[in-house]
Amino acid sequence: MAYATTNPYTEEVLATFPEATDQEVQTALSEAHAAFEKWRDTSFAERARIMNAAAAILRRDIDKYARLGTLEMGKTFAESKAEVILSAEIFEYYAKYSEELLKPESLPVADPATGKATLVHEPLGIVFAVEPWNFPFYQVVRIIAPQLSAGNAVLLKHASNLPQCAASCEDLMIEAGLPKGLFRNLYTARSHTAMILEDPRVCGVALTGSEGAGSIIAGVAGKALKKSMMELGGADAFIVLDDADVEKAVKWAVMGRHWNAGQVCVSAKRLIVADAIYDRFLDLYKKGVAELKAGDPMDPSTTLAPLCSRAAVEDLHRQVEEAIKHGAKVEAIGQEVPEKGTFFRPLLMTGLDGENAARHWEFFGPVTQLYRAKDEADAIRIANDSPYGLGGAVFTKDEARGARVATKIHTGMVNINHPLIPKADLPFGGVKRSGFGRELVGLGIKEFVNHKLINIVDIDAPA
Ligand code: NAP
Repeated sequence: MAYATTNPYTEEVLATFPEATDQEVQTALSEAHAAFEKWRDTSFAERARIMNAAAAILRRDIDKYARLGTLEMGKTFAESKAEVILSAEIFEYYAKYSEELLKPESLPVADPATGKATLVHEPLGIVFAVEPWNFPFYQVVRIIAPQLSAGNAVLLKHASNLPQCAASCEDLMIEAGLPKGLFRNLYTARSHTAMILEDPRVCGVALTGSEGAGSIIAGVAGKALKKSMMELGGADAFIVLDDADVEKAVKWAVMGRHWNAGQVCVSAKRLIVADAIYDRFLDLYKKGVAELKAGDPMDPSTTLAPLCSRAAVEDLHRQVEEAIKHGAKVEAIGQEVPEKGTFFRPLLMTGLDGENAARHWEFFGPVTQLYRAKDEADAIRIANDSPYGLGGAVFTKDEARGARVATKIHTGMVNINHPLIPKADLPFGGVKRSGFGRELVGLGIKEFVNHKLINIVDIDAPA
């Protein structure tokens, strides 16, 4: 895959970048390892200083980073800016909490008189990060903030349509004062995945992306006996129960399905609405989507961005055609979109019950799958009828009922009365075909550390 910047709004190719050579990858591995050998013994205070410096640079240069994100993948400038702030918050979170999260833990033992057992969390080496284009900065920071704070090194392979965002992440960390080589962006070729994962200095891979890429890269990691952490696709249920505040739920559904032009792993992709309020919800939802305005993502009045590429538009159209062949009914509910630029007119899809295979697909763009649920139990059944298990949302005026329904949904995350939107201080990840492992908070920082037991035993203890 060629690394190139193509503006989705103008469809102009603005810059291309050559793939890394084998020698460049080898040099990056050696420099990352050398830097890791020193960094593993660096104090948490020093690491925190650099994380805070990175956050301060992001906040100071927010427009620069946001403009670059919008230029390369098309999201609105306002959404880009929110992403840059979220990234700064993640750096600040780990600056504040890493030492506490990784502090040695005393283990309760059956006979304390015979010894003292402690668990320490030590860094393991170089983490390979493979990241997608839909959040050019947040996806990278979600890995580098915890992994660098834990004492590891990181080599990044970012999406091929974000070469300048990828390079700017490396520049950011250098400017923040990170030692040379500890974090590097590489325009890797496909063959470099095995070269990197088979290297003994590399401890594992964290991938965010599609199921296809996940299964290939987890396979390479498995063969090399390296740990992998997979953040993959999702088809989140957005359940609206019969006692929900319908107007507010609609507002969140429109936003939840269309932010980032619908290209979010935790988008509200499947709306599951109780029979009693279905017609009213649908009427308001169509009105809400019809108000979205497609246009220049740099224009503050734009609320529907282009998709990330022409190929993404074509793939989504093809997928919709396939769904229709399987019996889905599709209706355009958004306004007409500009012909120039990689826009996709919002669609509503119904007829997904029974055997229609499309009910199990992830539509990565503004396609809303809508279901009518007979009652609460039926809503839960539809929500769980998915190969994915990333996030979900439940709308109800009764919070206890919402929390009870949430316990029955087979995903890694559920919000009550809000669509799922990533936060710096909440964990992120899924189950089933949405992957394994968790990013962020204490779970994320402990994914690539050695949980080592140090057991001090009384020399006279019984055998
Ligand atoms: P993708 O095609 O799987 O790409 C993700 C990354 O993997 C890119 O850097 C890509 O590089 C790389 N890649 C793909 N195939 C590879 C291979 N054979 N060897 C080495 N690298 C490979 O996914 P995407 O289209 O960018 O992102 C959309 C998907 O990501 C959706 O399914 C979405 O739900 C999921 N996602 C999940 C989360 C989460 O946290 N669970 C978050 C965001 C997105 P190239 O660009 O060079 O192909």
